[in-house]
Amino acid sequence: MMTVKLFSSSSSFHLKFLTFFSSKSTLNSLFSTNILLSYNIQIMSSASKFDQNSRLSSPKSYLVPSLNSDEIDRITDETFRRYTLSSMKRKGVGVAIVWFRNDLRILDNEALYRAWMSSEAVLPVYCVDPRLFETTHYFGFPKTGALRAQYLIECLDDLKKNLMKHGLNLLIQHGKPEDILPSIAKASGAHTVYAHIETCSEELRVERGVRAGLQKVRRQTQEPRGKNPLSPKLELVWGSTMYHTDDLPFPPTELPDVYTQFRKSVESKCKIRSCFKLPTSLGPLPCCDLDEIGGWGCVPSVDDLGLHHEKVNMGMCFRGGESAALSRLNEYFWRKDLLRVYKETRNGMLGPDYSTKFSPWLASGCISPRLVYEEVKRYEKERQANDSTYWVLFELIWRDYFRFLSVKYVNSLFQIGGPRKVESKKWSQDRVLFESWREGRTGYPLIDANMKELYTTGFMSNRGRQIVCSFLVRDMGIDWRMGAEWFETCLLDYDPCSNYGNWTYGAGVGNDPREDRYFSIPKQAQNYDPDGEYVAYWLPELQALPRDKRHFPGKSYIKQIIPLKFGSSNQRHGRSNYNRRQGKDYAGGSKNFY
Ligand SMILES: Cc1cc2nc3c(=O)[nH]c(=O)nc-3n(C[C@H](O)[C@H](O)[C@H](O)COP(=O)(O)OP(=O)(O)OC[C@H]3O[C@@H](n4cnc5c(N)ncnc54)[C@H](O)[C@@H]3O)c2cc1C
Repeated sequence: MMTVKLFSSSSSFHLKFLTFFSSKSTLNSLFSTNILLSYNIQIMSSASKFDQNSRLSSPKSYLVPSLNSDEIDRITDETFRRYTLSSMKRKGVGVAIVWFRNDLRILDNEALYRAWMSSEAVLPVYCVDPRLFETTHYFGFPKTGALRAQYLIECLDDLKKNLMKHGLNLLIQHGKPEDILPSIAKASGAHTVYAHIETCSEELRVERGVRAGLQKVRRQTQEPRGKNPLSPKLELVWGSTMYHTDDLPFPPTELPDVYTQFRKSVESKCKIRSCFKLPTSLGPLPCCDLDEIGGWGCVPSVDDLGLHHEKVNMGMCFRGGESAALSRLNEYFWRKDLLRVYKETRNGMLGPDYSTKFSPWLASGCISPRLVYEEVKRYEKERQANDSTYWVLFELIWRDYFRFLSVKYVNSLFQIGGPRKVESKKWSQDRVLFESWREGRTGYPLIDANMKELYTTGFMSNRGRQIVCSFLVRDMGIDWRMGAEWFETCLLDYDPCSNYGNWTYGAGVGNDPREDRYFSIPKQAQNYDPDGEYVAYWLPELQALPRDKRHFPGKSYIKQIIPLKFGSSNQRHGRSNYNRRQGKDYAGGSKNFY
């Protein structure tokens, strides 16, 4: 293990590098042998500067949701009660397994519902797949950073707790689902494994492996002949989007390439299905002997996963799990009444309340988008309907769109030319430039602050993501996949469809060529952080500067690593010459200059 210390004027980073030799032939010179495997970044000097300098206020950190555990339990129980139907009757026989994947919830979970309906006893299973903790495809970053690992652990803890409240438990095993599920199916005599379908290649490969493994299992069954087959089946259901794939007015392979066409079409022709209800109890558990397969197992710790977790003490600290998700929804919609103003605030960057912050829970499936939809409709009925209430649904349609695009474009979403297979662009893999971006020391406070937020908390605003993406691919000319893979490591809300979908858009290789945008830092700073509050939060040395200097602090900050492609790099924000140049220099035309 080699420990490297990097210093910038704003903070020092302590990065742990683990050196290993990769077998991947695709790895380029950048990370060919020294690959960042586990990272542990501490903003040491940022914190100590706050302590030392009495003029600087202490950085506030935010728990999301900000409720205490009693309130979270109360909101969760209340929501479960609202969605419980006491008249539900199961009709099945034998044992069914629910294989939890990115659907770590009990509410509106069709796989769980179908397992319960089709059996007399349900066995819930989660496999801690070691492949999730390997490295990213091209550049060898950790596939799951420590923050998302911690978040996942909290999701599993909460899922186990909620299953137990409903008469079940969660069997947790470490290993590949294609090895684990057949042996559990054999030990429990299960007739079916129910799970949610995924759309990207790695997950589809696992599904194929599980199906093949189950086919080799022979069940000892007393059930009526023909009712259930001799080998356990794998039954996959669709459940990750607001609109169901079967309700689309076109097959996913013929999805419109322009988002607006997709949105208008689904809004006018499709209905969003209702959430699945919960029975009063999901029990009993099967009475099989689990000892031969290692018992119930337990939720791993971050250390068990070979990672090291530091407590988040700046920015937002998200709590994992369905209970936290339901509580955040309650807090944002009902307690704080923020849904009313979402459209006006959604482009903010600082604090938890400018947007919903649902994405980490949506990505891990702790909350279903249909439940968010039903709550928006309830809010519209009980409080008010306006552009803001609609706009949350508008954004969720973006999420749906990227999910369906992954079905249409399969692996090209991850390839350098993107869905449009753009060959003409020349990308650089300059290590020095990329590292300065990744570590937040480009000399542009708006970029540096956002990148620090990302690796400190696992979150970045949508505005920030668009700005840092544009800077990396357009100002630096760096291979967009390097940025996408770093996001894959860090984001709590990492979802292959939304991440690679947005990156291909940002890089101008997405399916819609009209989305070829350049985000001007001076203009973005002026519009979205006019007083430099956001940058001063993450870069405390800027706090002492006059507000109008914080985005372009000159010698008071580290030197800019490159000039901006369009507009001067040394202006006070907002007063740039970008207006004169937009549309002339940038091939995309003025409508693509933001
Ligand atoms: C380069 C880049 C990478 C991204 N990677 C991811 C990712 O891995 N996972 C992810 O969930 N989102 C990703 N996004 C989309 C978006 O930035 C986040 O969903 C959003 O910032 C989450 O914050 P929120 O929940 O407060 O969003 P809100 O503004 O409250 O929006 C509500 C919900 O709508 C959905 N949504 C909003 N904008 C988008 C969008 N552009 N694309 C897809 N869904 C959207 C999200 O599920 C979000 O939770 C990425 C965007 C960019 C530009």
